[in-house]
Amino acid sequence: MVDLAAIVAEIAEEMRAETRRGTVASYIPPLACVAVDKFGLAVVMADGAIHAAGDAEEAFSIQSISKVFALTLALGAVGDQLWARVGREPSGSAFNSIVQLETEHGIPRNPFINAGAIVVCDVLLGRLQPREAIGQMLRFVRELAGDEHITIDETVAQAEQDTGFRNNALANYMRAFGNLNGDVDLVLGTYFHFCALAMSCRQLALAGRFLMDGGRVDGHRIISDKRARRINALMMSCGHYDNSGDFAYRIGLPGKSGVGGGILAVAPGIASIAVWSPGLNAEGNSELGQRALERLVQYTGWSVFEPRVG
Ligand code: GLU
Repeated sequence: MVDLAAIVAEIAEEMRAETRRGTVASYIPPLACVAVDKFGLAVVMADGAIHAAGDAEEAFSIQSISKVFALTLALGAVGDQLWARVGREPSGSAFNSIVQLETEHGIPRNPFINAGAIVVCDVLLGRLQPREAIGQMLRFVRELAGDEHITIDETVAQAEQDTGFRNNALANYMRAFGNLNGDVDLVLGTYFHFCALAMSCRQLALAGRFLMDGGRVDGHRIISDKRARRINALMMSCGHYDNSGDFAYRIGLPGKSGVGGGILAVAPGIASIAVWSPGLNAEGNSELGQRALERLVQYTGWSVFEPRVG
């Protein structure tokens, strides 16, 4: 029997001593000013037990982790029709890369790169006004986490807007290929607000429970178990940009990272895990977050490739 409380505390202690912490994202001031020595870890077990350590209660910008929740909402809205407009293959490219869009006629490789998530927002805006889509997202993560205090950081959303030249280029390029129907500014405004969701490790790990538990939260069905499996599969293959293969190799769990330094990882049937450390590696994924998850799976043996998990 593994003592999760002790393991989580031990990992936080180990990470405190680490000197190689990566580099904090600097493209917008609200992210650039986050202290590099922050570290939080929260593990929510299938039985509801929560183990947390470090800065696990401090809200941070979840950024691209929101792409998981946006995908879930879009699949709920249009089902498999979504896949006519976005692929399911790892990109092997940076999160904001434009190169593949030309040869692949404006169809992004997957919903977890920026171009893919922008299409996902466009799909949501096929039925809702931006304000409604943002409200729906906020209600969704609050419901998943069982926490009404989750908010969107308007300063981050505005800063994304002010500096979003590449995302503008991606959106306009896809529009030229006919793969974006809405007004580019409204689609991007929605996308930036999703990126600006502020959540703590505890809130994020709680919000990830539906992926741990076959689409359910506390016995209440959110999505089908088949859809939960498939979202997990996409997180495993595409959740870390051009670092996805290495993440699968080192950690062996579905995960999604964001440039705020957060990672949501899922051990199906066992635990939902959120880790946060703002320093990033060269591919834009949390340096210590990945290391902490590597330690966690070493201690526990959790892996979707493990013949007997638990
Ligand atoms: N707001 C970031 C962007 O669109 C999100 C990227 C990320 O978290 O990977 O550039």
